[in-house]
Amino acid sequence: MTSVVRIAVPVPLPQAFDYAVPAAGPLPAVGARVRVPFGNRTLVGICIEVDPHDAYAEPKALLEVLDERSIVSGDVQRLALWLADYYHYPLGEVFAALLPNAALKGAPLRLRTEEIWRRSGTAAPDLSRAERQQALLAFLDRNGGWASGKAIRAAGFTSAMIAALVRKGAIEAGERRFDGEQPPRLTADQQAAVEDYRQRLDGFSPNLLEGVTGSGKTEVYLRAIADVLGRCDQVLVLVPEIALTPQTLSRFRRRYGATDVMHSGLSDQERLNAWLRCRDGQAQILIGTRSAVFTPFRQLGLIVVDEEHDSSFKQHDRLRYSARDVAVKRAQDLNIPLILGSATPSLESLENVRCGRYRHQRLSQRATGASMPSMRILDIRGHPLREGLSYPLTAHIERHLDAGGQVLVFLNRRGYAPIYLCADCGWQAACGQCDARLTLHQGRRRLACHHCGAEHPVADACPSCGSAHLMAIGAGTERTEEGLRERFPGASLIRIDRDTVRSHRRLEAGLAKIGRGEPGILIGTQMLAKGHDFPNITMVAAVNADAGFLSADFKAPERTAQLLIQVAGRAGRASRPGEVWIQTLQPGNPALRRLIEEGYAGFADHELSIRRRAGLPPARHMALIRAAAADPAAAAAFLAKLKAKLPNDLEVLGPAPAHMQRLANQHRFQLMLLADRRGPLHRSLRAMTSATTPRGLRWEIDVDPADAL
Ligand code: ADP
Ligand code: ZN
Ligand code: ZN
Repeated sequence: MTSVVRIAVPVPLPQAFDYAVPAAGPLPAVGARVRVPFGNRTLVGICIEVDPHDAYAEPKALLEVLDERSIVSGDVQRLALWLADYYHYPLGEVFAALLPNAALKGAPLRLRTEEIWRRSGTAAPDLSRAERQQALLAFLDRNGGWASGKAIRAAGFTSAMIAALVRKGAIEAGERRFDGEQPPRLTADQQAAVEDYRQRLDGFSPNLLEGVTGSGKTEVYLRAIADVLGRCDQVLVLVPEIALTPQTLSRFRRRYGATDVMHSGLSDQERLNAWLRCRDGQAQILIGTRSAVFTPFRQLGLIVVDEEHDSSFKQHDRLRYSARDVAVKRAQDLNIPLILGSATPSLESLENVRCGRYRHQRLSQRATGASMPSMRILDIRGHPLREGLSYPLTAHIERHLDAGGQVLVFLNRRGYAPIYLCADCGWQAACGQCDARLTLHQGRRRLACHHCGAEHPVADACPSCGSAHLMAIGAGTERTEEGLRERFPGASLIRIDRDTVRSHRRLEAGLAKIGRGEPGILIGTQMLAKGHDFPNITMVAAVNADAGFLSADFKAPERTAQLLIQVAGRAGRASRPGEVWIQTLQPGNPALRRLIEEGYAGFADHELSIRRRAGLPPARHMALIRAAAADPAAAAAFLAKLKAKLPNDLEVLGPAPAHMQRLANQHRFQLMLLADRRGPLHRSLRAMTSATTPRGLRWEIDVDPADAL
């Protein structure tokens, strides 16, 4: 009798499909890849069941069994099923999101080792006339003393530079070297946290490590990791963004040598290498971004989620998972400890502490003995602004530059100006496809939509009345940079935002300069808020950062407070005390005042009480159903139909237009579902997945949304 196997196929349909195994061929194991005919295509799917009791009577034959054994561990198979169920996403597409690209293409999964270059033990030769070679050495140093040839070239260096440095004896080919850096003596707080983890290495133990910026959370992770490595277990560390935090990686490598990485900047083969090394037990530590949470391990003993509040852990399309929440689920399933670390924990995690579900460790002081920066409001009502900056603010900047400090100017808006209008007739540059204004980018002479990506040349005359009297209103980083250059012509100035940092190489160069501690100004968007440790920054200026407190999104105040505290935390990390100025037109804003007077903990407490009163997460559970169509009535009607079928143990709001209804010519509407318990919520969502989708309409389910706009 021929066997039937059930295959998860990467198509947007909720069910899996049955195929017959040809009598002559091998039987695929659960978790193995197979090639199957699907419609008129050939797809690579994953076997999820052999001889299901309710097998389809006349299955097609599968074409090829690609693996002898399962390619992922049993826990990752279980995880895939859980993800499909929890996020209401087709199982086949869950596997497609969870496996490395190389595996999805059906190719054999082979480790291909790479050439690796490391600093040699000898003193560096004189490279004063070879600036790029010097930069390459600095790049290696920041990486913990070594990097793959591929990573070196990706950072903008050439093979010729590598060869030149080899000739000069400055670098050599060779395995990653374990140089076992001497760890510092722990502070009492750190010691207590490490002890707490040491007591609970066996079994599921979720922990929230809440430590002020600069309190040495990374050092705590490193010690906890040492205990786990000592048992020959592996460790997974999730970080929001690797390119922006090279320091974290280099600290791991200095301490433990081999540390594998996984992020979107790698080639398919590099990702596959790391994936295989983890799966087969060769890798000890994996540091990775969001999707690294799906990596199979031979013997995982600890998961760390650094900056657990960061919204980049949530995927914003397709499988809308939260890597932090998936990490909790995995730790629970594997029965291992988990550390969520942050200076500004998410309200969800604080609520979990409050309910006794998570243990709580605190680091209340900076590890180096540096004091916390003072945060103050700069009331600029009545002050004229030049390129977005007030006179009192530039006076503070000047004082710090004169004292040899570095200043960080934080402005979460890129481009030159958010508004471009005609002073004669009032015409404003708006996107033709979105309900949004166009942002002026002066350097490129472009008007760009930051929502759909459309770009237009800048006209010199008003398209409506022909007047030449066009004005740019408001300031983004590009304009503020210009203002700072005029005001401080002698100071070195680096702008870091998505427009300037298109290449990894420029980011590296910019960060290296700041890292050397030369006085100057660093201006940029929230890219600057993440994990950098620049000891010489003595002042942080936050411009327009409090605007987020006024957003319509219920999560915006939380995000704004986190961002402010994180940016402020860049100040005064070494011996000189730091100063933070928040330039605002609403000095009386209660959320801002509470944050400054009571700190993040006081703010978070209050914010949680607001959420409880309003019946919003984390007090209740939320899911959004989003629908988009060219015809607004169609999108709204579809959601109204879904709503009519929902039971009344849920609170259902909408259908309502999204905050920006039209995006890329699609009209967007949403339903908001709220429930006291997860059971009823998920039952209703499950029932929805079989709804027939009208032509020309797209819709999706977002469980635990990161924003509700
Ligand atoms: P966080 O991640 O909490 O912001 P870091 O782990 O980056 O803090 O630590 C901040 C600084 O303090 C780093 O330069 C680190 O080397 C240093 N540091 C951490 N722990 C200690 C310690 N026990 N003694 C001295 N310095 C420490
Ligand atoms: Zn006009
Ligand atoms: Zn647009």
